[in-house]
Amino acid sequence: MSDRDPRPSGPRPPSVDRVLRAAADRFDGRDRDAVVREARAVVEEERSRLARGNVPSTVDALADSVIHRLAGFEDARSDGVMRVINATGVVLHTNLGRAPWPAAAVRAAAEAAAASLLELDSDTGRRGARFRVAKEHVIALTGAEDALITNNNAAAVALAVSLAGRGGVAVSRGELVEIGGGVRIPDIVRRAGAKLVEVGTTNRTRVADFEEALEVGRAKVVLRVHPSNFVQAGFVEGPDPEALAEAAHRLGAIVIDDLGSGALLDTSEFGLAHEPTPSERLSAGADLVTFSGDKLVGGPQAGIIAGRADLVARLRRDPLARAMRPDKVMLAAIAATLGLYRAGVAQREVPVWRQIGSSADALEARGRAVLDGVLAGLLDSSEHFAIALVPSESTIGGGSLPGQTLPSWAISISGSSPDRLLAALRAGSPAVIGHIVDDAVLLDLRTVEPADDEALGAAVAAAIGTQSRGGR
Ligand SMILES: *Cc1c(COP(=O)(O)O)cnc(C)c1O
Repeated sequence: MSDRDPRPSGPRPPSVDRVLRAAADRFDGRDRDAVVREARAVVEEERSRLARGNVPSTVDALADSVIHRLAGFEDARSDGVMRVINATGVVLHTNLGRAPWPAAAVRAAAEAAAASLLELDSDTGRRGARFRVAKEHVIALTGAEDALITNNNAAAVALAVSLAGRGGVAVSRGELVEIGGGVRIPDIVRRAGAKLVEVGTTNRTRVADFEEALEVGRAKVVLRVHPSNFVQAGFVEGPDPEALAEAAHRLGAIVIDDLGSGALLDTSEFGLAHEPTPSERLSAGADLVTFSGDKLVGGPQAGIIAGRADLVARLRRDPLARAMRPDKVMLAAIAATLGLYRAGVAQREVPVWRQIGSSADALEARGRAVLDGVLAGLLDSSEHFAIALVPSESTIGGGSLPGQTLPSWAISISGSSPDRLLAALRAGSPAVIGHIVDDAVLLDLRTVEPADDEALGAAVAAAIGTQSRGGR
């Protein structure tokens, strides 16, 4: 905080004290430490600007930027979270936070966040109501004896495979999946302290392959992993779930089925391939199933473990379960999301299913209205853009139903650099995220919430306007 900088020549920034004095009357009740921290940062930035040969800022300008930074931190919207319109046509977009929450989940989370009533922890042997509600919903929806919620499905898998103790976990070589972000099932198994026993081959694994590993006592757990994000075709064979469970139980092992998405509605009713449901796999003999809360369940990030009561009770007592425990906000949100399935309104109230269930005709009609909105908002200078409503294909994404598409409609914009237009759309307010097909920017209606249609039209017109002005 001293003026006396040992470095000899060149312009120097004002001292932190001078900057603080210049803004003193505007710090209105803020913590002194916070103010000093930001003033130091601003002075340091000024020092590097000067070192690069920039013109010195006035002390008042530096004081202004201290105030500006402090006010920015106070505004939650500056915390890297920004409202975006997902026009990618990818329903579960990982970079957009996977599933958008149902309104009921948002309300429940807000209430839980503000409430002072904490979940009781397992030390007391009693659970808060929210833990119970989420658990009871899972039991009702899957037919499981008991259930446990963790903070995500990777945690659920790691916790569940720890049931192998020091024994082995048998996994088909065709299911040694990399989930995404470099996270691999074999690593999760090893990190959980269990021994990975690879079984069968990449394309074909039979029940007999598992029996071999179980007979010699090398494995105590059979782990099935849903190959969520890739498709195998051709000379391919996997074990029948029921036959595998029967063999595992005969040889004293348990079956854990990692479903990944864990659809609670039948995807085949929406023109998609059938995703195995938790209740199907439990009926087929799986002792435990695990799945995510923010994939096809359509709620917050969560992991769900459902199955045999004795096994779930063991997992609940595991100290790791505490380390993987969800917080009250997420519990409230997942309970509210699951409640929509129990109420029989998931298709209407869960955005993921509402989007998957939108008919191509309905999307075309919405697309026409959005297109009209775009054209109405355009400047004359944008005539060299070709803007049209075109058929497109949406995907599910989020490592769910790879290769499956749903017929959709999109606003197509061509005529300038598609990368620059995408960037302009991203920089807008609200930001619009689209994608490029054949040199045109496509904005798919399926993943846009209908309430955002008007804002989408205006944002697109504005982005095209910036391109028309800047592009000539
Ligand atoms: C997505 C996925 C996971 C990881 O789930 P998270 O909720 O992202 O932790 C694990 N297994 C499979 C098969 C998956 O598809």
